[in-house]
Amino acid sequence: MRTVYQQAPHLTGPSNLVYSNPALCMIPSVVNMMRKFSDRTVGILALQGDYERHQRQLEAVGAKCRLVRLPQDLKDIDSIIIPGGESTTMDILLDRFKLREPLTKFAQSAPVFGTCAGMVMLAHGIKDNLSKVTPLGLLDIDVIRNGYGRQVHSFEDTVTADLGDGEITVDATFIRAPKITRLGSEVTVLASYLGDPVLVRQDNLLSSSFHAELSDDTRLLEYFLGKVAAYKSGSTCSTNA
Ligand code: GLN
Repeated sequence: MRTVYQQAPHLTGPSNLVYSNPALCMIPSVVNMMRKFSDRTVGILALQGDYERHQRQLEAVGAKCRLVRLPQDLKDIDSIIIPGGESTTMDILLDRFKLREPLTKFAQSAPVFGTCAGMVMLAHGIKDNLSKVTPLGLLDIDVIRNGYGRQVHSFEDTVTADLGDGEITVDATFIRAPKITRLGSEVTVLASYLGDPVLVRQDNLLSSSFHAELSDDTRLLEYFLGKVAAYKSGSTCSTNA
């Protein structure tokens, strides 16, 4: 059921992530999951935005995490998350911290998960780009920023995604979310909301219009760390790749 915020929400959410509950660490499936990703070091672009939420989810699945603010932070990471926040600010800070070129190069082959503003940054084109954000041009989609409305129109709902091993339904929070207006032929739609694509994948790139990191459900992150990260260039991209 769609929940419309009465007030503009902060980028905060429930703090009951599994890792914060020591009792749950005794459950074998939680322990196994934490082992499964313990060899990963995942970067999070931490110039601005809700990178702390992603950090908590990464810790919950046992992955190591590195906040990326400078070009040298890209060394020794396996993959990167570009979080939600404000793409106009990220755009400026990418240049100020001389990160644009090294990040673009890194993301050409490494797994990248862009959420919300992260989707704007990954896109090829931005429609009605009044703020003149320069996207990285990696993911073959065009978006319209704030396509789901302004901050006061933020809402939560569920989104069902087909990740190849059956469907999962996740809590999705749309906060000034980008709407996809064009999909390239190499882009696979993993989930739609009211007819519009909201979760897409192109080879090593995964991107959602919505925030999934605000809940304690890590299944989308696990898909990223598992199947998207397993993608090798030259192989065919499918949801099972
Ligand atoms: N509208 C913002 C932008 O275009 C994205 C908002 C978000 O990440 N929650 O940068």
